[in-house]
Amino acid sequence: MPLRVYNSLSRKKEEFVPLHGKRVSLFVCGLTPQDQTHMGHAKTYVAFDVVARYLRHKGYRVFYLQNVTDIEDRIIARMKSTGRAWNDIVAQYFAEYLDVMDRLHCTAVDVYAFATDYIDEIVEQIQGLIGKGHAYVAEDKSVYFDTTTFSGWGKLSGQKIEELRPGARVEIEERKRHPADFVLWRAQKPGEPAWDSPWGKGRPGWHIEDTAITIRHFGPQYDLHGGATELLFPHHEAEIAQAESYTGVAPFVKYWMHGGMVMVSGEEMHKSLGNFWPVTAALQRYEPEVIRFFLINVQYRGPIDFTPDLLDEAKRSYGRLSETVRTVDAERRRAPEKGKADSELRAGTKRALADFDAAMSDDFNTREAIAVLFEYVRAVNKAIETGAGRAELDSAAAAFRTVGGILGLFQAPALATDRFDGVMDLVVRLREDARLSKDFATADRIRDGLAALGIVLEDTRDGVRWKQK
Ligand SMILES: [Zn+2]
Repeated sequence: MPLRVYNSLSRKKEEFVPLHGKRVSLFVCGLTPQDQTHMGHAKTYVAFDVVARYLRHKGYRVFYLQNVTDIEDRIIARMKSTGRAWNDIVAQYFAEYLDVMDRLHCTAVDVYAFATDYIDEIVEQIQGLIGKGHAYVAEDKSVYFDTTTFSGWGKLSGQKIEELRPGARVEIEERKRHPADFVLWRAQKPGEPAWDSPWGKGRPGWHIEDTAITIRHFGPQYDLHGGATELLFPHHEAEIAQAESYTGVAPFVKYWMHGGMVMVSGEEMHKSLGNFWPVTAALQRYEPEVIRFFLINVQYRGPIDFTPDLLDEAKRSYGRLSETVRTVDAERRRAPEKGKADSELRAGTKRALADFDAAMSDDFNTREAIAVLFEYVRAVNKAIETGAGRAELDSAAAAFRTVGGILGLFQAPALATDRFDGVMDLVVRLREDARLSKDFATADRIRDGLAALGIVLEDTRDGVRWKQK
């Protein structure tokens, strides 16, 4: 099934055809490390982690690049309010981000590119833009992009340049020739960190770092640019203006992908609104895989209206899935070679993998893909009840490994699980031995002790089974 991607640039789903065969260049707007990583960040980065994982699963060689905005207004504001050095603030919150990403199994990024490591490329691009008449140096030695010189302005967002008039939400800088113009290089203000440039000391604007980084790594064109929807305008529009004016090559990016936001009870998540959810707070209450499951149980373009109740619900749903994955692993060790339900299970596994792939190839529809898994889990449980043989259970376990690898779920270390399952099988056998020798006190003690740990024993036709509640 050909992969189709919704392209924000054409506003429709298109067949995914990379610029260079099986090679895929992917860039996603990264973090500005100045505060805790929140659930909105997690949604974006988990979504694009799945995108990269699925592309790799399909045989593409993906180079996934993410920038780190390590100098920006909010970092400077933090610096002033705390008295700490800018790079100290960045180091702290970036380390926290990496830790959170690691716990959420976001492993797909190849390179994190820090903006301040690309000052040479940034200066070179700005010089090029000035040279071609697309940028101007203002009185205070800041440099602005002249949006009236770029005829393609608005092709991503649909915003027309004449529509942008001074308004409450647009901070009008006196130095700009046109309200839509944006800063490429900001002249140093007293006490601010700064780098040398032909226009004097200063720091890069936010938009220019992305094009400096991607042109350095990918050249004038690349395949996929991802980010949260709120970055589409002006950030991504500005990127297109900069890159296409600088290189003369269009389109700068072939496919633009935008992920939906995390809302909290219909409102944007924001510290000032008191509804701010750092990922670390969620991680104190929920397993990382539950959070990941919760975040991908929507198609990436869709928003999530977040409440803690929904996380509780996700915990129950994910519990059902992972319990079956674990049961299959335990059952296949003790299953007979053949079982009555083998042909149904074989057909069920084949269908589940095909349907899963169809869902993922339709613009990475993880919500549909997860629905397929729930259907498959019902089929697997039924087959186990009827009697499933080892080979088919092995195939089911392999299917769960495949889809788990793509979604970043069911990743609990196999060794620990195997060992735990082995110990549990032993405990169950010891209890059976106690019962056979009529030592009911010991048998009850084992059952009650396990119940206290959340493990229940069930008598079935094929003997005693254990289950985690
Ligand atoms: Zn960006």
